[in-house]
Amino acid sequence: MELNDVLAGQRIMWPLWQGYTIKKHRGVQYLVPDLDASEQPRLIWYNCAEMPGELVANALELGRLITIDDPSKDYACTDFAARYGLLGLGADKDTAPVQHPDLRPSSRLVNSKGYGEELERFRNVFKSLYQRFSIIGRPEVLPLPKGSDLLALSGSIGFHMTGATRPQFSWEFSSLEAFLHFAYSALVSSPRKTLKICKNCEQIYYNINPKSEFCSTRCRNYYNVKVFREKEKI
Ligand SMILES: [Zn+2]
Repeated sequence: MELNDVLAGQRIMWPLWQGYTIKKHRGVQYLVPDLDASEQPRLIWYNCAEMPGELVANALELGRLITIDDPSKDYACTDFAARYGLLGLGADKDTAPVQHPDLRPSSRLVNSKGYGEELERFRNVFKSLYQRFSIIGRPEVLPLPKGSDLLALSGSIGFHMTGATRPQFSWEFSSLEAFLHFAYSALVSSPRKTLKICKNCEQIYYNINPKSEFCSTRCRNYYNVKVFREKEKI
């Protein structure tokens, strides 16, 4: 399945606040909108179907930083949220949130000002996505450890078609997490390998060029100099 074909012309809107921060509530860390980041905090809507490859690559890269316990991992979480919003982990709650001043952020209405996601849970989504990615195509890591159902990923997606004479079709996702899982599954199951690992810095990036091996020109140059110097030593 080619993701860009499936999402061509789609408008899958997801909201984000202008900034995010980590705050503690009753001893638990939450990723919440940083309401001090701007004088008039507002919710911005963007189309996540526009650059799904970059979204998935950035999510995997965040998962990698979390997995290797990189010192920048918390910053990387707030940075991801500032670019793409929260994951909508509470979107499938079936009860309406009760308004209570001491209510934990994750129990509030999804994407409202007071809504936040438990940092540990937020991190785990990226970590497990990265773990899936890191074992794909690497038979040497088999047999899989216990919990090999790690490889299965499923979700339900809705669709909507207008009743007009010129019908418009659109996919409907309940959360950014659902969209992320869908986009990831489509990308890794495509014969075209567009999710890459930089040969120099190991960063995960998206590139449709089958020959691409580096995340940036800087990394390519750096790597070539390194190889050249090593050859000189011999
Ligand atoms: Zn690189």
